[in-house]
Amino acid sequence: MALKDIIGQDRPVNILRGCIAKERIPHALLFTGDKGIGKRLTAVNFAKALNCQRVPGEEFPITGSFLFEVPAPEHPGPELETQSEACDTCPSCKKIERGNHPDVFLIGPEGDGGQITVQAIRQLEESLSYKPFEGRWKIAIVDEADRLNQSAANAFLQTLEEPSAQSMLILISSRPDLLLPTIRSRCQRISFSPLPVDTMSRLLKERFGDMDDERARLLSVLSGGRLGYALGDNLIDQRERCFSMFGQLLESLEEEPWEDKEAMEEWFEWSQLLLRDMAVYSATGREDFLMNTDRAEYIKAISRGAGLKDILKLARELYNIKRRLAFNLNKQLTYNFVSLLLRNNLGQSGRE
Ligand SMILES: [Zn+2]
Repeated sequence: MALKDIIGQDRPVNILRGCIAKERIPHALLFTGDKGIGKRLTAVNFAKALNCQRVPGEEFPITGSFLFEVPAPEHPGPELETQSEACDTCPSCKKIERGNHPDVFLIGPEGDGGQITVQAIRQLEESLSYKPFEGRWKIAIVDEADRLNQSAANAFLQTLEEPSAQSMLILISSRPDLLLPTIRSRCQRISFSPLPVDTMSRLLKERFGDMDDERARLLSVLSGGRLGYALGDNLIDQRERCFSMFGQLLESLEEEPWEDKEAMEEWFEWSQLLLRDMAVYSATGREDFLMNTDRAEYIKAISRGAGLKDILKLARELYNIKRRLAFNLNKQLTYNFVSLLLRNNLGQSGRE
């Protein structure tokens, strides 16, 4: 695939095309936006366009100014696409797609702690210090850059401050507020936005010919307008797992806590959506305002007896825990604590 195949992110894609067409490549970019929205896919395809053997242009100058946000080109026309699109067939494009291009590096969190370590950054720094082997550019993509630990972040800052020639960095983060301000301020930021429900429903139906309107709409709402999320994981299964655990937590402590950190994060995401629906139902009594329209009965049952104030308080408390998940909270302790919160706030609900 190429930049033109990235669906629903016209603004970021046009900004990047503009950079290539004008031959002004920022030294460091920060892609922000929710998980599953297409940031990494865009980064990889931008790397392809930069190094594609069929795209004209030799050594572009690196732009020196550090803007907070890169402006979109005023009139992105069809010529922009042809000037700045990877062919997807040359050896360079193929290697980048397969992840084995000697000048393109993709790193992210590793191991149990789920952090990006200082060793990984040092290795990256060393790789970037050489001239490109094959391509025009050395490109480092740092996925989930907010997971840089303290020493890695400091090491990384150096890489940002002393850019090597013909190298560029792309940081990806759904939680840019967790990055060091000194890192943030040295990157030009490009924001990715969720798709509107109508656009996404249409895209889903185009993609899956047999999907009916109701399901397309439900998936669009549940994925929060993140196409990657809607296409990749089985959202409905994921939701059911999380809803059933919500019930477990409310009833007793006997079940196993979350399998891993990812499952834990997933549960907190879904519980926010569930509590949102419970609050809406408790305030309005209307099913048609729910996001999980197909689970109206469950939401009604679980909200019964719980006051709006308690639901909102619980949502706030869970949100605060969710924000701290990056700090590797103990699973069992968190499980026990969340169970207590649920029972304290919704204790009368869900049972007759
Ligand atoms: Zn190519």
